[in-house]
Formats: sequence, C-alpha cells, structure tokens
Amino acid sequence: MTSQHLLRAGGFRPPAVPDVEVRGFWGDRIDAVADKTAMILYERCVAAGMFDQIDPERPVPPVKMPWHTRADGSPDTVNVQMFWDSDVAKVIETAAYALYRKPNADLEAKIDAIIEMFAKLQQPDGYVNSWFIRMQPGLRWTNLRDCHELYCAGHLMEGAVAYFHATGKRTLLDVMCRYADLIDKEFGLRAGQKHGYCGHEEIELALIRLGRATGEQRYIDLARYFIDARGQQPHFFDIEAAARGADPAQFRHKTYQYNQSHLPVREQTKVIGHAVRAMYLYSGMADVATEFGDDTLTDALKGLWEDLTTKQMYVTGGIGPAASNEGFTDYYDLPNESAYAETCAAVGLMMWASRMLGRGPDRRYADIMEQALYNGALSGLSIDGSRFFYDNPLESRGGHHRWTWHRCPCCPPNIARTVASIGSYMYGVSADGVAVHLYGDSTARLKLSSGEVTLTQSTAYPADGRVTLRIGLDAPATFALALRAPGWCEAPTLTLNGEHTSTGDMSGGYIQLRREWRDGDVLELDLPMRVRALHAHPAVRADLGRVAIARGPLIYCVEETDNAGNLNGLVLSDDLSAARTEPLPELGGALVIELPARRERWSAGDGRLYSTQPPAAENTTARLVPYHLWDNRDAGEMLVWIRAAQ
Ligand SMILES: [Zn+2]
Repeated sequence: MTSQHLLRAGGFRPPAVPDVEVRGFWGDRIDAVADKTAMILYERCVAAGMFDQIDPERPVPPVKMPWHTRADGSPDTVNVQMFWDSDVAKVIETAAYALYRKPNADLEAKIDAIIEMFAKLQQPDGYVNSWFIRMQPGLRWTNLRDCHELYCAGHLMEGAVAYFHATGKRTLLDVMCRYADLIDKEFGLRAGQKHGYCGHEEIELALIRLGRATGEQRYIDLARYFIDARGQQPHFFDIEAAARGADPAQFRHKTYQYNQSHLPVREQTKVIGHAVRAMYLYSGMADVATEFGDDTLTDALKGLWEDLTTKQMYVTGGIGPAASNEGFTDYYDLPNESAYAETCAAVGLMMWASRMLGRGPDRRYADIMEQALYNGALSGLSIDGSRFFYDNPLESRGGHHRWTWHRCPCCPPNIARTVASIGSYMYGVSADGVAVHLYGDSTARLKLSSGEVTLTQSTAYPADGRVTLRIGLDAPATFALALRAPGWCEAPTLTLNGEHTSTGDMSGGYIQLRREWRDGDVLELDLPMRVRALHAHPAVRADLGRVAIARGPLIYCVEETDNAGNLNGLVLSDDLSAARTEPLPELGGALVIELPARRERWSAGDGRLYSTQPPAAENTTARLVPYHLWDNRDAGEMLVWIRAAQ
C-alpha cells in the first residue's frame, strides 16, 4: 500500500512524516512533543473523563460539560462534550508522530487501549461516535449542523491513518474504513441517501487522506460529494431542522455563513464565519481540486486566499479576530488585545496553504504557511510542551496566560500534531521534481520517478538564513529542484558546488533548478535576515502609528519582563541600523533583538488624568523576543505593534 498513489500526474504531494528526519529548531520542538506533550495530552483526556464516555465497558457517565444557551437564554442542544472523540483522535495522531520520532512502549500501549475502546464501541453497521452511541442514543444523524458528528469521524480517520503509518497496526484503520463505508452508504445524491454534510468541516480532507492511504477511490469521491453538496438549495440544514421538529431560524449563529454553507462553495468569495471551519473547508476543497484537477475549485480558492491574506489576517498569521463567532468580522478589523486568533485557526491556515501547494510551488502560499507556523500557530505551545494558548492576542495587559487545559481542548492536540508532523510540510514532491517549502535542519528521503533522492539541509534556521543543501543519489538523476525564495528576503544568493548560480530563474517565487544531479552536489543558499519594521495598511486602525518588528520568518514582541511595564510608553526609533541580536539562554537560545527607543513618562505630577504637558521622554533600549515564545517566563504585559517615532 503506497500513500497517495492516486494522485494525479503533475501534482505535488507532501512526504510522509517518517520520510523527513528533523533536527535543529524543529527537532527540539518535536522532542518536546514526543517526550512530554503526547503523554500530557493523554493524561488530560483521562482527567477530563473522556474515556469514561468512549469505553463501552464502563458505566455511561453523566454529562460533564455545560450545555450552550441560545441568545434568548433558552438551552441549546449542543455542548462541547459532543466532540470529545475528535480531541482524543488528535491525541492519537500526535502520539503516532511521537512514536515515529521515538519508540515509547508505555505511550503505545495506552493508545492501543484507546483504539480497543473505539473498536468495541463500533456498532454492527459500522457507526462509531461515543456521544450518539452512549450519551444520546437514537439521535444519530439528526443534527449535522451543530453536533460535529462527521467532524469527529474525520479526525478519527486522520488519527487512524497516522497510527497505521507509525506502527503498522491496522485496528483503527479498519474501524474507520468500515465507518467510512457506512457514511458512503448513508450520504450522497442517490434516492434514500441523506443529501447532507457536516456543520464543522473536516470529513472532506480526512476522506482524501483515508482514500490516499488505502487506495479506495470511493472515499475520495465521497469527499468531493461533501464539497459539492455544501450550500446547495434547498438547504440541507433547513430540511434537517424541520425533520427533527426544530425551527431552522433558531440556529444559534443566525446565518449559515457561520459554517460556510450560505452558498455553494464555488460561489464563495469572502472568507467568512467560524475560522477553523473555513480553513478546514478550504483545505478539503484544495485536496479535491488536486485529486480531480478541478480548476473551478482552485479559482474559488485563489479568490478566497486573496480575500483572507490582504484584508483579514494578523501579521502573526493568526486569523479570526472575534470570540463571538470564533471567526471573521469585517475587513481590516484586526484588534490586537481582543484578538481571538485561535491556535487551531492558524494551524488550519497552514493546512490550507500546504494544500494549495499541491498544484505546484508558489510563494504566495508557502510564505503565509511559514508566517502562520512560526508565529500564530507555534505560540500555542510552550517551549517545554506542557502548556497551551487557545486564543493568541497581539497585546496583553498581563492577564493572558497559557492553559494547562481548556474546556474546549481542540488546540493543544492540534498544535502538537502539527509540530510533530512538520517534516511533511517542508517539501512537495512530484514525479520529477522537489520543492523545498520550508527550511530547517533535516534529512529527507524523497521518492521520484527516477528513484530516491536524499536531501540534507544543514542550517541554524530560523536563527540564521544560511542553508546548505546536500544531494544524495545512488546514480545521477535529472529532476527539478525548486527552492523557495521567501518574500521577506530581499537578496537571496545561491552557490552550486561552490560556484555562484543565478537566482534569476524564478517561478512562483521559487528558484528553479533543473539539471542532472549527482551524488554529493552541494547548494548553499543564503537568505540574509535583516531586522525589519512592518507597517500595517492604514485601514487597520489598531495599528496606526505603530510597527511590528520582524526578522526572517519571526514576528517579534516586547514583554514586560524585559522592558518593565506600560509597554505602550515605548516608542521605537525609525533607525533599525543599530539593531543588535543575541541569543537568550532562558528562551532556549532564541535570538532577541535590541533596538534604541524612547520611553515616555507621564509628567503631570499630581496624578491628573489630563494635562497640557506632553509626556517626558528618555532614551532606552527595547528588547524584543519572538512572539511565539511569549509568556514562557514571568507573567506580564506583551505587545506586538509598538509605537513608532513619527
Ligand atoms: Zn482550537
């Protein structure tokens, strides 16, 4: 069984996680997940009582999580406990990647035991969902809009594929194939089938993954059905609500924009609604576009990408500013202190970006993938892998801290599985080409039609932009190598076996090199990392008169522990030539940036709120740390967009 053998010719696919051995910056992070996070996630699921709900051999537990209420105060039919299967599924997926990294008999035995629970839970017809089997029996497939039922199935499919690839054990894969067969029977356009789809997208991308792993085309076709059916009239969620005796107008989120079913997907032009749902939908659409060569989907996705990244994305790659819908609001509405910017949404943006690269290397997508990865996504995990952010504001008065767990624990396993599988985001592989999307110390074994190529990256990236790439081949082979020239780098340079090579042959922001490669060929890419100040579009009112400091792919911030409090009293000099960088041991050796600044102090002596006297100012040095590392030391204020000298 080969993964993704169904992929159409010309498409680029990510390598499997074990095909990339990751060291350096990401190696340390993966080790933290393997050594710590994976078991922490398991133990927190135990503490939350999740396995009491899943294990059919235990008594049915009481409902533990509160029910939501509607806007008018009446009780809703939804609570977050309904999607515990998905949280456990992401823990299984994280554990699978952790086991790729490091064998761990104890962790593997614990995951095997969870999988056994799901196997015993599975109904004779193939159905698997702990909530609707044990907590609310008899209600299966009556409220796809709200209850995350197919979403849970999707995450379990992803966990099943990852665990099979990690361990060779098929139990969960077989369980989920039987479940996918049932879903394939129940949903579709034939008479007697439900013409529905899930209110929380995920099943679409998961079915593609399951289809690629098993070679079962029906799963891939079913993913296409779910994409094509979404938003068609008459609206499935109206029909479904009426069928269960509910008033469709009582939908808690009022509009189907919330779950991106307000229009058929090819007619959607504005990124809207719940941010994670949107990202998972677009990821599934991109997968289907790649599988079927469907340009109508790709065209819609290009428009949506433009809409998101030019009007609705934080500089951190965080998305979805509002807590009320966990999602999008108006164009240029990017408040910093109240930013929701859920970790899962930044992970979802990475997932979408990586899938847009399935049609070929293109810096528009890979640059944003990197931006979201190093900033809005990675901020969700503490250095030691034990604590998590759910929302990722760009400013804090000191009250925002990492969680050990969350009542809606979607983010911890989502960032953990992403970090632990980062090798698969680094490359794209086609029949006769390799695209390097992300740089990082690593060795990849990639299969081309001409045979296997080993690509070794030696680099201190992201601390340093020099990357040495060494080609390993059994015999000379001709293929295209595309190296991303990041948009943040003004003047990349490249040598091949010590000779300067033109970086002029660019396509889609990638340096294109097609030649006969020989074993031991060495490329040295230099991506100079200048400290730079970023300005926001003037329509972003929250950032007026302010700059964000960046270096390479990292966005920086100031923290109270380095700069004392009242961070809005800091005014950065517009001369960045005096910027200094130095490693900070207490942040794992990450480079901090020191910049000349002024500090304003209120000089009205008697505590008056208003004065004709402007603040006094004194010279100081501001110390900035990578945004993803904030709140790993003493608690305090944090600020990304810093006042700039005018
Ligand atoms: Zn989340």
